[in-house]
Amino acid sequence: MDNRPVVLEVRHVTKRFGGLIAVNDLSFDVHHNEVLGLIGPNGSGKTTMMNLISGALSVSGGDIMMNDLLISDLPPRKRARAGVARTFQLVRMLPSMTALENVMAGAVFGHKKLWGRGLQVHAQRQLERVGMGDVAQRPTSALTYIDQKRVELARALASDPSILLLDEWLAGLNPTELQVGIELITSLRDEGRTIILVEHVMDAIRSLCDRCVVMSSGVKIAEGTPTEVLSDKGVIQAYLGD
Ligand code: ADP
Repeated sequence: MDNRPVVLEVRHVTKRFGGLIAVNDLSFDVHHNEVLGLIGPNGSGKTTMMNLISGALSVSGGDIMMNDLLISDLPPRKRARAGVARTFQLVRMLPSMTALENVMAGAVFGHKKLWGRGLQVHAQRQLERVGMGDVAQRPTSALTYIDQKRVELARALASDPSILLLDEWLAGLNPTELQVGIELITSLRDEGRTIILVEHVMDAIRSLCDRCVVMSSGVKIAEGTPTEVLSDKGVIQAYLGD
């Protein structure tokens, strides 16, 4: 039993794409300062679920509540204002803009009431937070992949979100970079952030997640600590069938 307040409630959410049910009557809670792993084999509906939370997609049925506000009817921008921030599976930033400008854009999208110098200082702080303070004036296209990912994280943090959605943020990193990435997410957890992460890297799931929701073919097949779900027969079967 987790006594921390619930930040996000997913209630009986369904998403249909024509005849295909990508997410089927899915329910779960995310508590304050929890790192929840949304895991499962390819095609199980994880990214769709992240898109339903951020508002990139709208639900076919069910409700999503954040801090008691019904957000599943709101457009993405209003959800950002309500405290949802996300990173993408593939880095999606404006490549010709500098790292600082990208982070400033994140703050504006999340409706941080900052302008001019105040906005710049805030964005610079987010870059420093992810160890990227010295690349502020470089175009993001000139940065390495992991550094682009770090700037993307700074951009998501710039709105000071109630919940941070990380969609395979660690994908494509080499083992050394992976370690840096895991430490960075750990430090976000330690400072009290609430995070949902979609992840395939098992080491990362084990070391970062308090709890996992396991999806297969759009439905929840298990929920529990990483140790519990990764030893569950149904979960192992679902992954072997991947
Ligand atoms: P995962 O992230 O677990 O790999 P996805 O959420 O990407 O799974 O996909 C779940 C299912 O929904 C898959 O069968 C996929 O082909 C389908 N799907 C995802 N997005 C769309 C879309 N925009 N239009 C039609 N089908 C989609």
